[in-house]
Amino acid sequence: MSRSAHPAGPRHADVLTEGHYSAPPTDLNALDKKVWARTVRRNDDGVVTVGGIEVSRLAEEFGTPAYFLDESDFRARCRAWADAFGQDADVFYAGKAFLSRAVVRWLQEEGLNLDVCSGGELTTALDAGMPAERIAFHGNNKSAEEIEKAVRAGVGRIVLDSFQEIVRVAHIAQSQGKRQRVQIRVTVGVEAHTHEFIATAHEDQKFGIALADGQAAEAVRRALRLDGLELIGIHSHIGSQIFDMAGFEVSARRVVQLLAEVRDEHGVELPEIDLGGGLGIAYTSEDDPREPHEIAKALTEIVTRECESAGLATPRISVEPGRAIVGPTAFTLYEVGTIKPLEGLRTYVSVDGGMSDNIRTALYDAEYSVALVSRTSDAGPMLTRVVGKHCESGDIVVRDAFLPADLAPGDLIAVPATGAYCRSMASNYNHALRPPVVAVNEGGARVIVRRETEEDLLRLDVG
Ligand SMILES: *Cc1c(COP(=O)(O)O)cnc(C)c1O
Repeated sequence: MSRSAHPAGPRHADVLTEGHYSAPPTDLNALDKKVWARTVRRNDDGVVTVGGIEVSRLAEEFGTPAYFLDESDFRARCRAWADAFGQDADVFYAGKAFLSRAVVRWLQEEGLNLDVCSGGELTTALDAGMPAERIAFHGNNKSAEEIEKAVRAGVGRIVLDSFQEIVRVAHIAQSQGKRQRVQIRVTVGVEAHTHEFIATAHEDQKFGIALADGQAAEAVRRALRLDGLELIGIHSHIGSQIFDMAGFEVSARRVVQLLAEVRDEHGVELPEIDLGGGLGIAYTSEDDPREPHEIAKALTEIVTRECESAGLATPRISVEPGRAIVGPTAFTLYEVGTIKPLEGLRTYVSVDGGMSDNIRTALYDAEYSVALVSRTSDAGPMLTRVVGKHCESGDIVVRDAFLPADLAPGDLIAVPATGAYCRSMASNYNHALRPPVVAVNEGGARVIVRRETEEDLLRLDVG
């Protein structure tokens, strides 16, 4: 497939080296299993299906843009994480990745716990019937109302994030006649992203209390003194979209070192350690995520080894995957609108959504893949940039992608791995109506979060 055969394709070497992509894929109709939800296939008519239902049918029934979530994949991933860690550890799904009542029920049925980090997430969790003791409450600036509500509900743990919060939570718990189970979130001087991690001396960020300069040790000292608190452990979360376990290794070592210091100073062995979330998923064929059982094995070995050498009993481990559970289970379905070939550069393909349903590309330069899903094509590859309909030139969904050169308005294209941090970060920019989330399972599809309507917009506008 020579590039010059495709007039809309790239011509200049400098354009080619500017992007994130490598060579065009050999088969544009192929679906890489790594990036698509478990039941996604292309049927004999060339139409992509999820749970056996054609995307063209889904588009007719639910409209576009829309997120389609493979429920069986979600449940299977929950089970894989729960099984991998077994009885000696707890898996908390990070609700901020995507939360709805249906998700809360699935988590409950599959035996997972839940992290929330706002009053709204807590309300959703409780409303859907998650037992409070299976909820952990996070956040660097929890309001007094949020803390009161969490303590009253009886959440299993509050993760303390600052010196002020230690006092605030203790005070609120005492005023309710309770002793609140808490962990202290520490920053271990490790920052991990994707394929690398950086060990830093100081943490220049808003979360947690630094291990450096004895700050975390001081936080433990204060928490242990307060009657309203039951300090159960130390928490550390080092980053996101991580593939390299080396960052967790450093983090676990430093947290265990703190546990040893706490034992030496106070004569108590804190029974729990939480290593956070951040485990990576495949957004493109170039990503190679690890399986939950490999991650569980690696983390458990690290903690066990470090504790042995510090002479501590191994604490109960917890982890908090969000993206790794929900991310791969959904794709966003768009209809192709205008197509604009820019001579010698690339072709801009506009879809009926954009940064309002997926802000990650604009926000973090995230990479995604995309495929034509309503039909197959024999046309050659065309270098495209998939963009939205918003009034921002940074409104990019997929920065660099090859799509068939005969792509036309009305075609359906889908962006896989949009289950995490897409609907949960969606906005109403340009008064866009936030898309629905449709759960697909064994031949059935049902809306679990409905599409926003213009009435919804006007209802908030009370001026
Ligand atoms: C965001 C977050 C997570 C989940 O991160 P993922 O990348 O979705 O796995 C877990 N724990 C804490 C404290 C977080 O802030």
